[in-house]
Amino acid sequence: MGCRVGDVASWLDESFPTELADSWDCVGLVVGDEEAMVEHVVVSLDPTIQSLSAAQGRGSSLLVTHHPPWVRPLRRICRQQPEGELVWKAVQSGISIYCVHTNLDRSAQGPSAQLAEYLELCDVEEVAEGLGRVGRLAQPLPWKGFHRWLQERFPHAPIRGAGRTEEPIERVAVCGGSGASVIDDAHRLGVQVLVTGDVKYHDARKAESLGILVLDVGHFSSERLVVPWLARQIDQESRRRGWGLLVSTFEGEEDPLRPMELLMR
Ligand SMILES: [Zn+2]
Repeated sequence: MGCRVGDVASWLDESFPTELADSWDCVGLVVGDEEAMVEHVVVSLDPTIQSLSAAQGRGSSLLVTHHPPWVRPLRRICRQQPEGELVWKAVQSGISIYCVHTNLDRSAQGPSAQLAEYLELCDVEEVAEGLGRVGRLAQPLPWKGFHRWLQERFPHAPIRGAGRTEEPIERVAVCGGSGASVIDDAHRLGVQVLVTGDVKYHDARKAESLGILVLDVGHFSSERLVVPWLARQIDQESRRRGWGLLVSTFEGEEDPLRPMELLMR
C-alpha cells in the first residue's frame, strides 16, 4: 500500500493553500520527488538532521514539517552549510520534505487553534485576521492559580512573562509561535493574559504599559501541539482515500532553547 508523494502534497496544498503563506515564507514541497512512492509519513515541527534521521530509520520517504528549512532564497546548495547538509541528506535518503507554515497559521485549525483547545478555552474567536485566538476560561482563576495551571500544562517550559493585571484571569488570548505582534489586538479585546512564544524586550515593555500579562511558554511549546494534530489529519485523509499510509510523529524533537544547566546534558 501507499501513494505518490505528489498525492499527499496535492492534498496538503488544497487543504492549506500556499497563497495564504507570507511572501517571505517557503511552503509546500520544498525538497522532493512527486513521483516517489510513500508508505510512511513522519511529521515533526522542524526539518532537522535528527528528524530526517528518524524518518530514514522508519523507512519513510516523506517528512512533513511546520517550519521550513530556510526562508531566504538559497544561492547554492553545499553540503558544508546547514541548509545544504539538510538537502543533501534528504536527497541521499530519498526523503521529500513538505512544509506547511504561515499558511497553516492562517488556517482555521493552526497552532493558535490547537493552543486554545489545549487550554480548554470556551467561545473561541480570532484575535487578528487569521492569527491568534481569544476565549475564556470555564472558571476564572486568580493569578497564582492560573500560573500553576499553565505550568502544569507546559511542564517542560520555563515560562517567563511581563506586565500585570489586577483582575482574575478569565479572558485569555493565545498565539502560537512568535505572537507578540497581536498584543495590541488582544488588549483591545479586553483579555487579562496573552500566552505566546518569542516575547522580546520591547514587547515586554508594551505589556507593562498596556496593563496586560504576556506569558512566554516558548516558541517550541506553543506550536508543538500542531505536530500530532497534523499527523491525525494525514492519517484520516489516508484512510478516506485508501492510501494505507502509516503516519507517525518524531517524538525525539526538543526545544533548542533550554535553561543553561540543561544545555550540556
Ligand atoms: Zn513557529
